[in-house]
Amino acid sequence: MTQEQTAGQHHNTSNVSPSTPASIPLTAHHLRFTVTAETAITFHDFKGSALRGAMASYLKRTYCPEWRAEKTDPLHQALCPVCQLLSYELTPEEGGDIRRPFALQPPLTDQNCFAPGESFSFGLTLFGSQLAYLPYLVLAVRAVGEDGVGVRGVDRQRGRFRLERIDAVNPLTGATQAMLAPGAAMVQTATLPVTHDQVLAKAIVLAQQVQSHENLLAVAFLTPTRLIQSGQTVKTPAFFPLMKQVVLRVLDLCAQHGEGRPAIVLKRDIYPAADAVEIVTDDTHWWDVAGYSGRLGREQRLGGLVGTARYRADAWAALLPWLVWGEVVQVGKNVVKGCGVYRLHGGQQWQSSNI
Ligand SMILES: [Zn+2]
Repeated sequence: MTQEQTAGQHHNTSNVSPSTPASIPLTAHHLRFTVTAETAITFHDFKGSALRGAMASYLKRTYCPEWRAEKTDPLHQALCPVCQLLSYELTPEEGGDIRRPFALQPPLTDQNCFAPGESFSFGLTLFGSQLAYLPYLVLAVRAVGEDGVGVRGVDRQRGRFRLERIDAVNPLTGATQAMLAPGAAMVQTATLPVTHDQVLAKAIVLAQQVQSHENLLAVAFLTPTRLIQSGQTVKTPAFFPLMKQVVLRVLDLCAQHGEGRPAIVLKRDIYPAADAVEIVTDDTHWWDVAGYSGRLGREQRLGGLVGTARYRADAWAALLPWLVWGEVVQVGKNVVKGCGVYRLHGGQQWQSSNI
């Protein structure tokens, strides 16, 4: 082998994924809660918003002594787990957007009414290696089941549910492990964290699938995905704002809940590759859905894109690990209410969803 060939091969190897950092120092724990209706439960259109609202209200009134305060003392915010989960503010020098330490994945079903005895599942993803907030979230889900959730019935009561089980789920490896089994009182701290190595492994498989299918990647937006570009809501599935918001979110999560922000220069490492991606088909639509924001004290628009868009690019390798992370952490506005859940498909069959 000549020296020239060696150099060439080395160049090629480092070029497989030129703008992917060696590691994105983030871990995520996905938990699946399975509950069974004890009385009839009726949700409005968007179940995630109702679940999150009921959990937040329980946590504030039970564990945060300052929940009614107009302005919260910074020391309290630094110490109070509820404020950190729901409402703390960043100091200006920390930069970036505030990223809550969790995201909610609502029940992925069209069904909005559950008769007594019917079960449904929803997920919470916690960011960071610590599971410090887990007990609060488990207690909140249990309390929401006891207090009731959704629309009030004719008896003025909301539907109640019983927490059946909690499973740790790794969406990339498919592994699951029981954390709370039916009938058990103790929550096991079983964890199956999503790691960057698993993300890379999935990205490599996706890259192979995409390559053998005319470089097409499908993105199925399962819950309303609301992206902001230059202060404007993006109402079409343009690729660039999706990519940009995924990367910014992952970087902020690394800085705020991981082990530090990786050294990425967006203009060099991300934007050129993202600019080269073209949209091929667009089977998305805008789903306008309203939720209630307790914090804002008024109805809040939670609408976003749902459906499937397909994209083509000659070079996906640099973008795929970020997009896989986005699948895990969700993207756009209102992820704590269940927005921004999407799935990537590299040439396999996919279904658009009307959830
Ligand atoms: Zn507090």
